[in-house]
Amino acid sequence: MASMDFLNTADPAKAPAVRTVPAAEKPTLIGLSREDMGRALVEKGVAERQVKMRVSQLWHWLYVRGVSDFDDMTNVSKDMREMLKKHFTIARPEIVDEQISNDGTRKWLLRFPARGAGRPVEIETVYIPEEGRGTLCISSQVGCTLTCSFCHTGTQKLVRNLTAEEILSQLLLARDRLGDFPDRDTPAGMIAPAEGRKVSNIVMMGMGEPLYNFESVKTALLIATDGDGLSLSKRRVTLSTSGIVPEIYRTGSEIGVMLAISLHAVRDELRDMLVPINKKYPLKELLEACRAYPSLSNARRITFEYVMLKDVNDSLEDAKLLTQLLKGIPAKINLIPFNPWPGTNYQCSDWEQIERFADFINQAGYASPIRTPRGRDILAACGQLKSESERMRKVERMAFEAMMIVGHGEDD
Ligand code: SAH
Ligand code: SF4
Repeated sequence: MASMDFLNTADPAKAPAVRTVPAAEKPTLIGLSREDMGRALVEKGVAERQVKMRVSQLWHWLYVRGVSDFDDMTNVSKDMREMLKKHFTIARPEIVDEQISNDGTRKWLLRFPARGAGRPVEIETVYIPEEGRGTLCISSQVGCTLTCSFCHTGTQKLVRNLTAEEILSQLLLARDRLGDFPDRDTPAGMIAPAEGRKVSNIVMMGMGEPLYNFESVKTALLIATDGDGLSLSKRRVTLSTSGIVPEIYRTGSEIGVMLAISLHAVRDELRDMLVPINKKYPLKELLEACRAYPSLSNARRITFEYVMLKDVNDSLEDAKLLTQLLKGIPAKINLIPFNPWPGTNYQCSDWEQIERFADFINQAGYASPIRTPRGRDILAACGQLKSESERMRKVERMAFEAMMIVGHGEDD
């Protein structure tokens, strides 16, 4: 934490200017693996023998220094910068809206350019500061193809998958806005390690099912956790899934971040209704995939998310089944008070019942934090962020009781 002082670019004059573009006029260099970036450079005439050096130079500027303008890459020759400017972009998405809650929670509405025949899309990204850490909640899709019956995102049509660039840009943009990149004149050796940053953790818990957009999520998270990229520890990155079993195995072997499972029910019959993907990947298969997840230990546990729905899944019998079901898996259980939305038939469990439920599973030896509401005043609700396609009318939004969700992600 001692390193934090020189990292925060509180002085806007010293921070690199942030550049945004309204449309994807040119291909991006953000969110490309080293190999793909190398190929893109060779196609534009960069000599093969220079490619490796150029790629690591660009990665440094993009992810360690956080620049969004080629002209800020001071050790890159002018000719090279002109070439890069002519063919590529590294601009940030447009910020349509930025809201800051009384409790410090921030929410950005971001607009990404049209892709192909599509139209521009908007998504939300939320930052939750807490004692000793700051968590960024990132979206992976615009809308969701799944139809979990208690989830507002599930009522929206999928508009499209986000690209790796768009997923990673949410992190870059949050770090810009929070002053989390080094000042322009910070010497290379003085760049603070990842622990001193405002965004210390990320959770893929925004809009969408990340494992239905596997390749882009993988590319973005590998750059976010690469020591020459954004340097986040894999223990501080959590991917939440409704339970796409084959891709859970792939997440373990190809990405290696922490896993959260949207469990919500302990009997197939009920889970089929709440999380319909359960019909395809029932509880037995899902829990087998969890048991097989690599490197689990007491310090590396799977988070099981459990939304508290009144008279649906909140009995002590459910709590008992839950602890039986998770036996043998290093697990923590995250109880989420249901966050109602206009038109839903579900209600949040009574607070006393949530506490009784939590006590029961605590006694069985499981950590079971209850997520506390955050950012109510700015409608910052992880798990049900909305797309521009079906935004609620203002009056509905004002009536909408939002809760921000905390308590996910690892500390170290
Ligand atoms: N699609 C992924 C990740 C995004 S949802 C998944 O389902 O895991 C993040 C979490 O918020 C999930 O556990 C989801 O089930 C939960 N959630 C969705 N709608 C909610 C609501 N109305 N109230 C409380 N939690 C909700
Ligand atoms: Fe999609 Fe997750 Fe919502 Fe289910 S809970 S509809 S998977 S965003």
